Amino acid sequence: MSDSKRVLIVGGVAGGASCAARLRRLDESAGIVVFERGPYVSFAHCGLPYYVGDVIRDEAKLLVATPELFRARFNIEVRTQSEVVRIDRTEGEIEVRDLGSGRAYREPYDALVLAPGAAPIRPPLPGIDLPGVFTLRTIPDSRRIRDWMLEKQARRAVVAGGGFIGLEMAENLSHRGLLVTIVEMADQLLPPLDPEMAELVRQRLVAHRVGVELGDAVAAFEQTGEGLAVRTGNGRALPADIVILALGVRPESELARAAGLDLGACGGIRVDERMRTSDPRIWAVGDAVETRDFVTGEWGIVPLAGPANRQGRIAANAICGRSGGFRGVQATAVCGVFGLTLAMTGASEKTLRRIGWTGYQAVYVHPGHRAGYYPGAQPIHLKLIFRASDGRILGAQAVGEEGVERRIDVISMAIQKQGTVFDLEEAELCYAPQYGTAKDPVNMAGMAAANVARGDAGLARWDDLPDTGALLIDVRDPAEYARDHIDGALNIPLDQLRDRLNELPRDREIWVNCAAGQRSYFALRILNQRGFRARNLSGGYQTYASSKII
Ligand code: FAD
Repeated sequence: MSDSKRVLIVGGVAGGASCAARLRRLDESAGIVVFERGPYVSFAHCGLPYYVGDVIRDEAKLLVATPELFRARFNIEVRTQSEVVRIDRTEGEIEVRDLGSGRAYREPYDALVLAPGAAPIRPPLPGIDLPGVFTLRTIPDSRRIRDWMLEKQARRAVVAGGGFIGLEMAENLSHRGLLVTIVEMADQLLPPLDPEMAELVRQRLVAHRVGVELGDAVAAFEQTGEGLAVRTGNGRALPADIVILALGVRPESELARAAGLDLGACGGIRVDERMRTSDPRIWAVGDAVETRDFVTGEWGIVPLAGPANRQGRIAANAICGRSGGFRGVQATAVCGVFGLTLAMTGASEKTLRRIGWTGYQAVYVHPGHRAGYYPGAQPIHLKLIFRASDGRILGAQAVGEEGVERRIDVISMAIQKQGTVFDLEEAELCYAPQYGTAKDPVNMAGMAAANVARGDAGLARWDDLPDTGALLIDVRDPAEYARDHIDGALNIPLDQLRDRLNELPRDREIWVNCAAGQRSYFALRILNQRGFRARNLSGGYQTYASSKII
């Protein structure tokens, strides 16, 4: 960057703050000013639900950095309570309103970075502005929610929206002793997950007395003598002392739109891989921009802190003439509810179906997060989605108590390196009994998928089960079968299979299932090598039990 180039940044949290700090590390002489509409910069959005839940008790801990620190350590000027209201691209200036004094003024720029983030969606529903109906984005929002709960001695909460923030809020309100009901319009929680994986999360919430209303939407809010009533589309009236709206976010792209910058179909700012907008002097990063999905190539808005931070850094690199670009977003995400961790990376099966991709397959495994003989082993329910033709990994989702995010992080990196299920099969991962198994869950998923990709194990699809003409055999032990089984399944325990082959048809396909998919794979190998046409119901009864498709 040339001497005393002036870079202005709109928005001082994840993307804006990381861009500013990186700029300074690359250019000691640049003039860098960050404009932030709110009272704080560089605070921990992601910690807000835990502040509401009193897990984080000291509000000051949410402040990652202050304007004073930016000044002293980075020689960066931060102006809080300063809203950028207009961009004059012809003059290369922005117009700023000082929210304290009301004064408006202009500032010239050589480079401008837009990092205004995304705002919570507040649909125009009757009563949405009633006291007691909150959204959560800022520290003052979380403070208001805490104060309201205290003042009203809140006992019942409705959380509208069952996404990541909705779930975190439900858990935290429940920690505070409130009876919580989640209302979610989709027929599953966590819409980015596939339904059979999300079902495990629903079960955990219900076990912790959180009500979950799926396939229903909040429609209106009414004041009652005792608090609020939340009316839903299905005609329910849910009493509540507090309502949290967690209905998703919309990119704050109005400033860019008014300045004539290109926007994408989802309303986010359109940028290239160097985070440059349609104006060569303006960059944009974070929740406000549209990015390409790394796997599918689709444009979309993925409001996550990791991409926002990395994009801020990339924009700074670009402004300073450094190389490197954004590779696309994989939507790698994690969330915890009542001790259960769920994580995902890459494409879901639902997404692939929606965009019309075919030629992919999915396997399920349920290995322990550590060696079974070591106390405390807990299953990780892992789904791996891959391209059938060459084994290229497309996505993965996992749910479990322990070690879930580590496995998804490994697979995330494999996706970024355009890896295949054969790479997962071969991945060399940490192992000692308290941490994992010599065949790590990632290896196991890779092996299960590689067996399919090599043609050693044909897969039967769970959602074809109701209509199949195949004979279903369950190779678990009789006691397991007696506990519960899929309707119509014939029980032939694996250890008896070789002796009972004469009971099986050669003119009809055979679908095999067991508890977790391993014994059925062994059975399938026997059957196929003996001339039967067999397929595996991947993941076994555990996947069946959580699958709502069936
Ligand atoms: P932001 O961090 O939102 O910063 C944008 C800033 O710009 C805002 O402070 C805003 O006031 C300011 N601004 C906007 N317009 C103007 C203007 N015209 N003038 C001046 N200033 C302006 N992500 C995860 O990956 N993991 C999590 O666990 C997670 N948890 C979350 C929990 C909550 C409650 C919330 C709200 C978000 C969470 N996120 C999480 C999302 C994550 O916080 C965002 O993806 C990330 O902060 C986006 O960074 P950004 O810089 O684009 O926008």
